[in-house]
Amino acid sequence: RTLTAAEAEGDERAVEAALRPRTLDEVVGQVRVREQLGLVLEAARRRGRAPDHVLLSGPPGLGKTTLAMIIAAEMGSPLRLTSGPAITHAGDLAAILSGMVEGDVLFVDEIHRMSRPAEEMLYLAMEDFRVDVVIGKGPGATAIPLEIPPFTLVGATTRAGLLPGPLRDRFGFTAHLEFYEPDELELIVRRSADLLGVELAGGGAAEIASRSRGTPRIANRLLRRVRDYAQVRADGVVTQPVARTALDLYEVDSSGLDRLDRAVLDVLCRRFGGGPVGVSTLAVAVGEERETVEEVAEPFLVRSGLLARTPRGRVATPAAWEHLGLPVPAASAW
Ligand code: ATP
Repeated sequence: RTLTAAEAEGDERAVEAALRPRTLDEVVGQVRVREQLGLVLEAARRRGRAPDHVLLSGPPGLGKTTLAMIIAAEMGSPLRLTSGPAITHAGDLAAILSGMVEGDVLFVDEIHRMSRPAEEMLYLAMEDFRVDVVIGKGPGATAIPLEIPPFTLVGATTRAGLLPGPLRDRFGFTAHLEFYEPDELELIVRRSADLLGVELAGGGAAEIASRSRGTPRIANRLLRRVRDYAQVRADGVVTQPVARTALDLYEVDSSGLDRLDRAVLDVLCRRFGGGPVGVSTLAVAVGEERETVEEVAEPFLVRSGLLARTPRGRVATPAAWEHLGLPVPAASAW
């Protein structure tokens, strides 16, 4: 019997959950964040108090949800998960907060996308462990104060800069997650292969790591795709040539750029002569939301030295032209 699409997706999610590090010690890379967070948690444990609120920022797939789970696990507390877009009314947040128990960890993913009234309610909850629930409308409305047991908020955002200052200031600890180095990704691939029972040989792990866009989630996904290929077309062992052929087949290029990254570079060079061009124009040209281009594609392109942000707009670097196999124009804006 073949799996239905939903089962296959459920299976992928189950695999992803199985690969998550469960303690700070199991987290690969992010050395500074790990040490800082470890201190925050240890100090809270010694004082017998809930740790300060934590803000995690960085591109998708670098481990924000994983760290939130670890914070809860290390404090021996349950984790409640929600996300900014799911909290459309202040009442949604009041309902979540009123159900909290002392020491609970509340994870709000995409916290920058919460509604304004909910955000204001959160200020009070974070600072005074209290919310004002407004009943009724107009002149007859009354605010009923509601005490909330001390809890720890873990907020995740792709860009801390998008958070209003008053919200950002209420986090006692902010960690910015960076893209991972190839050797760190290689460790992640090796660890995941171990857990999945995949045999690696030669430079198999390094090949997957170098094409993973600096992102653990992608490294784990590529490992699973390469394993499929190795099982069906080879003898099951993931060697460098097997990884290379499989990843070429899945159109992951040798720098790890994905479809959107390539589309952005392509449009920037071929249609806009290398820039400078505004990010909104680029987004329309590749048929994506501005936020996706800005928060997902751009950080990696900048970090790879293929794109630069200038006051006049986005500019392709000479490396970008070379990457596309195009001659670098003499009059390039770069
Ligand atoms: P999003 O914001 O899109 O939810 P995220 O930043 O929360 O992404 P996670 O879901 O935490 O990312 O991580 C994705 C996967 O990558 C996890 O399943 C985990 O297995 C793996 N992973 C992330 N960070 C690490 C790490 N430091 N070491 C080992 N594995 C990691």
